Amino acid sequence: MPDSYPRAIIFDLDDTILDTTLSADRLWSRAAEHFSERAGLDAKAFDQQMKASREWFWSDPERNRAGRMDLYKARSGCVEHALQMLNASNAELATALADWFTERRVTAMTPFDGAIETLQTLKAAGVRLALISNGKGETQRDKVIRFGLEPIFDCIILEGEFGVGKPDRRVFDHALTELNATPSNTWIVGDNLQWEVAAPQALGIKGIWVDWRGAGLPTDTDVKPDRIIRSISELVES
Ligand SMILES: [Mg+2]
Repeated sequence: MPDSYPRAIIFDLDDTILDTTLSADRLWSRAAEHFSERAGLDAKAFDQQMKASREWFWSDPERNRAGRMDLYKARSGCVEHALQMLNASNAELATALADWFTERRVTAMTPFDGAIETLQTLKAAGVRLALISNGKGETQRDKVIRFGLEPIFDCIILEGEFGVGKPDRRVFDHALTELNATPSNTWIVGDNLQWEVAAPQALGIKGIWVDWRGAGLPTDTDVKPDRIIRSISELVES
């Protein structure tokens, strides 16, 4: 094993291995176009407001927790919120749009370029690998299977199956036990500054932040990642 690798690395799934937000944004834009006439709205304005409504919805930790356990309700709620903000309330249309989106959601998602190859390279180098993903067990397990991730990881913890999710320390402790690793020889890699940097750093794990947007650290955070990367393929580049 190269000296530069730790004994174990814990990975996040969404927006770390998979292009979750990018693929969703693209699909929401298509939905805005498809439904704008029926909503009596300009497609671009509708798309922008739906994006703002999603950001508003997911930024609240409690709404986020409930929403990731019932994605359909979160989706229709965000559309309804957007329609309200545009003075175009229409519960029937919100449901129809959420249905349209949900039917297409899973197949629209793909791994980031080089992500699967990176995981395989690390595995081949002898690094023990864990996946910790928040969200409904069924939804997250479906992604794990669809993208062939099960055989790559030594340990997979999905919030809906495990009972608690990040940033609860029990998920990190469980992963370390399964990986037979200690915090000081473990890295964690993910896009959420609280879940994959601040909380695990408090346990002594090295927190690597995936800035997939390339926007840099938000100005309002005091979280200090040990390393910032644009994509996980940087982990195996010499
Ligand atoms: Mg993520």
